[in-house]
Amino acid sequence: MVQKIAIIGAGVVGLSCAVKISEFFQNENIDVCLISEKFTPNTTGDGSAGLWGPYLIGDTAADNINKWSKESHEFFHDLWKNGKAAEVGISLINETLLTQKPEVANPCWSQVVFGFTPLSYKQLDLLSKEHSVRYTAGANYVTFTCEPTYLLPYLMRRFKSAGGKVLEKRVNSFDDLLDQYDIIINCTGLGAKTLVNDPKLTPIRGQVARVEASWIFQSTQNDNNYIIPNMETVILGGTAQVNDYNENISDDDSKFIRSGCSDLNPSTVNSTLRKEWAGLRPGRDTVRIEAETFHTGNGKGRTVIHNYGHGGSGVTTAWGCASDVLELVKESVSLKCKL
Ligand SMILES: Cc1cc2nc3c(=O)[nH]c(=O)nc-3n(C[C@H](O)[C@H](O)[C@H](O)COP(=O)(O)OP(=O)(O)OC[C@H]3O[C@@H](n4cnc5c(N)ncnc54)[C@H](O)[C@@H]3O)c2cc1C
Repeated sequence: MVQKIAIIGAGVVGLSCAVKISEFFQNENIDVCLISEKFTPNTTGDGSAGLWGPYLIGDTAADNINKWSKESHEFFHDLWKNGKAAEVGISLINETLLTQKPEVANPCWSQVVFGFTPLSYKQLDLLSKEHSVRYTAGANYVTFTCEPTYLLPYLMRRFKSAGGKVLEKRVNSFDDLLDQYDIIINCTGLGAKTLVNDPKLTPIRGQVARVEASWIFQSTQNDNNYIIPNMETVILGGTAQVNDYNENISDDDSKFIRSGCSDLNPSTVNSTLRKEWAGLRPGRDTVRIEAETFHTGNGKGRTVIHNYGHGGSGVTTAWGCASDVLELVKESVSLKCKL
């Protein structure tokens, strides 16, 4: 008998699951359908710089952060090495992290990136003077950006070539799908707040500016602002406003971003503004990856697997999280085969 799987949400989290699941079950009697209200270029990730780096991910366990983000880092590295960088939007970049909070410069993921090296007091002193901020810790390392405006179409191509189907639709309740699908995977990001009534989900608003600054290849961030080069533009950021649903551009935030980034790198003053954008990160105390059983009208059990709440780390963790989801799907499929 054919089993049917629905994945709700075509952001970076849902599409990563869609690819892993459709490719794993490609030659089995399993249909996979991706159902979403919005698609690229209108998902949250599309506005992001796609910098690899666990950020605003609540109290998610360090072991999980490391496992998921390491797998994503390796995924980007493999694609980059194998000639896919231009197609998938992957760049290898140097990152300088500066902070007044020593724990920020001693992250659990320091061994995942390349060449993580704490900054010396002399370097901190020099940068503190340059930026007029008293830094107490910092590090240099090399990592990737993976730009979702390239990554998402790439994942969609892989999903379709593995036989995946796509449906553009808003899902108001799992009840709409329980009769048609054996397994439902909930990757709705902040949409889960209403879909599953999760009070722990909260928006963390982020505003950024995309500028033309072709001379910047170095990413720099401190506790307030960041500068991240992408392939065509440079992203100047940014805000992290908890429980703020405003998706309009705030003039005060625009000024904060331009002035903070010019302290980090005065040359940004000469950059031309291409676009400003504000998006809502799906913030949660921890990322939720968990299976639940729901019942149809005639009492049949259906598995719903949740995968949402990635905060400011969706691009960083999505590929790794999709592996955990695939394991839960495999368990559910083998249970159903035994029945
Ligand atoms: C300013 C900013 C900068 C960022 N920078 C980075 C960065 O550099 N690196 C990084 O790792 N992360 C970054 N992030 C975070 C990252 O963008 C998010 O973690 C990520 O996009 C979350 O992905 P998602 O797929 O869970 O959610 P979304 O991208 O929001 O996708 C959710 C999907 O579900 C669909 N959906 C929702 N509800 C329903 C429903 N009821 N029915 C049908 N479909 C539904 C939506 O239409 C959408 O397709 C940034 C975020 C912001 C705002």
